[in-house]
Amino acid sequence: MPAISNADFLALWEDGQRLHSLDRGLLAIQAWFPSPAGEDAADWSLGRRNQALAALHEQCFGPRIEGWTVCEGCGEKLEFHVDCRALIERQRGSGSQSVIFKGQTFRAPTSRDLARIARECDAGTAALRLAGMCRMEEVDADAHGIASWGDKDFEELGEAITLADPLAEILLSLECPVCAHTRQEPLDLPAFFWAELEATAKRLLNEIHTLATAYGWSEAEILSLSDARRAMYLHMVLA
Ligand SMILES: [Zn+2]
Repeated sequence: MPAISNADFLALWEDGQRLHSLDRGLLAIQAWFPSPAGEDAADWSLGRRNQALAALHEQCFGPRIEGWTVCEGCGEKLEFHVDCRALIERQRGSGSQSVIFKGQTFRAPTSRDLARIARECDAGTAALRLAGMCRMEEVDADAHGIASWGDKDFEELGEAITLADPLAEILLSLECPVCAHTRQEPLDLPAFFWAELEATAKRLLNEIHTLATAYGWSEAEILSLSDARRAMYLHMVLA
């Protein structure tokens, strides 16, 4: 993975401003993971995408993802942390990322698939459309079409795909220390990555503003300083 400069951070943050969270994650991946010609990260399985985002997070911000949510039982603030290295490991070695279910072959869903059903309000219709997009072929000629499936079938297909593409869904197991309420909550990795990137970009812009005001240097001149030199000048200006 190529090194990530401060100028890269700012350019990416600027490019991602008007994009949907899904597309921001892909923008970051495409900036730093050179893909073979003709390959688009939008067509990567969600597990592969999340693995790439976890690797990027580790390189840019360190391995620890920290967050918090609110207990549904008593309203207590629940803090959690996830280690990116464990996430990367979970996806390692996952093979074909396709499954045979009820006589039909399905590939793992991609970001492009999710974008196509993003505006679908009905969960059942969304599941049907997603399964339709991911169906590759009928193995068993007598297989019943997915249109006749019930909720349980879609649930089981989801579980089978999670085994084939383990990082497609990252579920946090949360237990409240006050009321002992437990629940599982999905971790939105693109959103967490972007929040970190945005915080870094804003901190950099703030530092550029401070140094430009004090010394009259241009943005490019300030960004060309090493982190250590910039920090030292900031320290002297703010002292
Ligand atoms: Zn609670």
